Amino acid sequence: MLYPMSELLSRALKERYCIIAPSIRDESCMRAAIEAAEELNSPMILNCMFPSWDYDWDQGDSEAIRFQVALAREYALRTHIPVAINRDHTPTFEGCMQAIAAGVTSVMIDCSTLPFAENVQHVKEVVIAAHAAGVSVEAELGHVGIGDVQDHSETTNDKDFELEANSVLTDPAELHEFIQLTGADCVAVSIGNAHGPYAKKIIPHIDFDRLSALRKAAPETPLVLHGGSGTGDENIAKAAKMGICKINVGTDVEAGAWKAIVEIYQAKGRVTNPFSVARKGYKAEIIRQIKLLGSENKAW
Ligand SMILES: [Zn+2]
Repeated sequence: MLYPMSELLSRALKERYCIIAPSIRDESCMRAAIEAAEELNSPMILNCMFPSWDYDWDQGDSEAIRFQVALAREYALRTHIPVAINRDHTPTFEGCMQAIAAGVTSVMIDCSTLPFAENVQHVKEVVIAAHAAGVSVEAELGHVGIGDVQDHSETTNDKDFELEANSVLTDPAELHEFIQLTGADCVAVSIGNAHGPYAKKIIPHIDFDRLSALRKAAPETPLVLHGGSGTGDENIAKAAKMGICKINVGTDVEAGAWKAIVEIYQAKGRVTNPFSVARKGYKAEIIRQIKLLGSENKAW
């Protein structure tokens, strides 16, 4: 079943669990995510990334976006578990509208590198249009940077991220005002987390005092953690209990995929049907994280 993301997150906030939003780059990812959610009876957020299908495809290729979202909708409509389809990071109104026209149920407008007033203005405009279409809006306040810029630059040509390595922590007083002014359904916060792998694989220090203050400043608004990979099992389980309702995970689930292939290759010297093997590895890591985040058996 397909839902606006706000429906999934408001339930998660009430019951203090967190829903994984794995990076969806192709159909294998979708299938793995839906199968994992069905097995554990958990809600699921398909976090569609553009460029995603293939890095050679341009970010503005609307046909690629329509094709990916159409497939995601098929998976969502054929399962009994609640699913939201989110368009991850776009800095523009046009990007959000393109995704809404393609059929997502949530968009993330990321203007987190702009000054507060400009961020507010952009988010407000998207909220008016998206809500008219029954689509939820995720915004970002403070800025979640990149854990390991060098590693990231080798694996992606995502231009949005290139110049934004430095994080800016989210200010609780600003968060309260931001939500009042924009009407955003959920907000990605910066509390020590970062995108991609962390440099030297260090487990980051998550500022739980800040998370607690943010939670108090916005008691009714689900908060989102980007860069969930490598953040540490204890940290993310604790964050889930403290009101982080959605966690974006890319690197860790992708590592599940390639590790599964490497394991078989090392044992047998070849891998028959590597795509299936990769999907199962990706799915296994999602299952592990669903259990950690407390969303098992929370489907309705
Ligand atoms: Zn992000």
